[in-house]
Amino acid sequence: MDGMDLTPALKRYFGFDAFRPLQEEIIRDSLAGRDVFALLPTGGGKSLCFQLPALLRDGLTVVVSPLIALMKDQVDALQAAGIAATYLNSSLEAGESRARLRGLHGGEFKLLYVAPERLLLSGFLEDLKRWGVSGFAIDEAHCISEWGHDFRPEYRQMATLREMFPEVPFMALTATATERVRDDILAQLHFHDPRVAVASFRRSNLTFRVNGKAGAYKQIRDFIKDRPKESGIVYCMARRTAESIAEKLAGDGIAARPYHAGLPSETRAANQEAFLRDETRVICATIAFGMGIDKSNVRFVIHHDLPKNIEGYYQEIGRAGRDGLPSECLMLFSAGDRVKYSQFIDELTDETERERAREHLERMVHYAEDSGCRHAALLRYFGEEVKEENCGACDNCLSPRERFDGTTSAKKFLSCVFRVRQKSGFSVGVGHVVEVLCGAETAKIKKWEHDTLSTYGIGNEHSRNEWAAIGRELVRLGLLRQDAERFNVVELTREGIEFLKSSESLELTRPMTAPATRDKHRSGEIECDEALFERLRGLRKQLADERGVPPYIVFSDVALRQMARHYPQNEADFGKINGVGEKKLAEFGETFMEAVAEHLESYPRHNFHG
Ligand code: ADP
Ligand code: ZN
Repeated sequence: MDGMDLTPALKRYFGFDAFRPLQEEIIRDSLAGRDVFALLPTGGGKSLCFQLPALLRDGLTVVVSPLIALMKDQVDALQAAGIAATYLNSSLEAGESRARLRGLHGGEFKLLYVAPERLLLSGFLEDLKRWGVSGFAIDEAHCISEWGHDFRPEYRQMATLREMFPEVPFMALTATATERVRDDILAQLHFHDPRVAVASFRRSNLTFRVNGKAGAYKQIRDFIKDRPKESGIVYCMARRTAESIAEKLAGDGIAARPYHAGLPSETRAANQEAFLRDETRVICATIAFGMGIDKSNVRFVIHHDLPKNIEGYYQEIGRAGRDGLPSECLMLFSAGDRVKYSQFIDELTDETERERAREHLERMVHYAEDSGCRHAALLRYFGEEVKEENCGACDNCLSPRERFDGTTSAKKFLSCVFRVRQKSGFSVGVGHVVEVLCGAETAKIKKWEHDTLSTYGIGNEHSRNEWAAIGRELVRLGLLRQDAERFNVVELTREGIEFLKSSESLELTRPMTAPATRDKHRSGEIECDEALFERLRGLRKQLADERGVPPYIVFSDVALRQMARHYPQNEADFGKINGVGEKKLAEFGETFMEAVAEHLESYPRHNFHG
């Protein structure tokens, strides 16, 4: 297989012209019989990495996946592309299971999806031996690690599987980015001299913004109203908020539904289904929503509240723009939220848990307030080296935040930190420093006699929230050190002491207030005949409903936009559309070309360049 051109198969089965980064390398290694550990970001195209080799080699490839809902989706999508795939899980009726098992005995399938529990059922491993398995893929491989966000003990079975099938190539895939989880996965799996393929976690098609939170509902509504056709998720911390926002949006004429663990399971399933099928445009959810959402045309993700930690945040925004088209992420941030969460955290009883939560929260706040590139900040968090340049896809790069001469403010803050320490012999957190600066009369200030400090009450030029933001910026600038292991107390660094003594000036960033605005230009967008796009979207919905599958399984938004740009009128042109393989050309080509022709009878053709 070495050197064989894989692109004809890519086009024939999946309708794509080119591989995404690392897909081809991963597929080649797997076909050569090597174990592969693939780390690709969400939307990086992991499924194809095991699906294409499965089609190109003899025998059956078994895919272990923890997400029952996703299994059906993936199998539907494969079948829509004319690929013999099936799944076995507890959702099937006995008769259906038996029929599928017969098919497997008869060698009818190329791909079998199973939940990890299935591997533990008696007789199943013997069945696998008989079916001539020629490849294993372990999806969501982070489930094997206790350090991951979704540990599944059944995944521990995977090491045994590796030993039972010594001659069969294995592949493990995940979008989990942290080093610790990666190392743990490799240690648990017992792979044979694996190829480790790590793609960049940069999501270039996503635009990140953080806005000051002020009248959150209105900010969210306006954002969504500005994008009248697009579908997205609003994440909220509390169930109550998720419900009330969904209700208000619906009242304002936007199809929205809530999703959280407190709803009856039928309602939850129905709301999720409506979202997948493009019947409701917006889902307002707690973090319970998202695992197992394969919908590729989620165009925006809004965070009504500050996420608990950066990993979770990255997972949640990862659900936007999996089809590679431009998509937007907006986070609303208020310093008040930070205070509220720290109070929750203070109530945690377990000390390590409390410390960890505090550290996560602090990092999240720094991310929100940072005036540097957001893409770069996220990548750095996940250990990727990045050159900071204007990304053109985050608020800070698109419209740099206003700066002001913060020399005096910074000096006041730093000397207050110094005076507290000098008087009391211990350090305090940013909050206490702010109270001293603002001349507050708290019990602690009285007890520690901090109202006698020369820096007491000298900070009238800023509000408390502004002072707190200044304090955190000084931490980011390295003038203060914040100790997450000791209640986030702050201390002067050597640089901080030098700055205090020097006559240098210092620029600080204005706290954010800017409202959510949409940029006129979004790079990567496929310009097309919007009226035709809408018509094709309607057709896609109808065909999907007839087949009982979500619309994106018929065609992606990318495919529809290309059709509405190139107006294909013959098979050769239609076959060039992204996502049109052999099977889809035969099944849908004529219908969509007819729709294009009909449209052209009543409307002029637009010309697009390039
Ligand atoms: P992941 O599991 O890594 O999040 P998926 O396997 O769901 O990603 O793929 C994300 C989307 O990208 C899917 O809609 C898929 O069809 C599409 N895709 C995958 N590979 C390619 C490719 N080489 N060219 C174009 N689209 C692709
Ligand atoms: Zn940027």
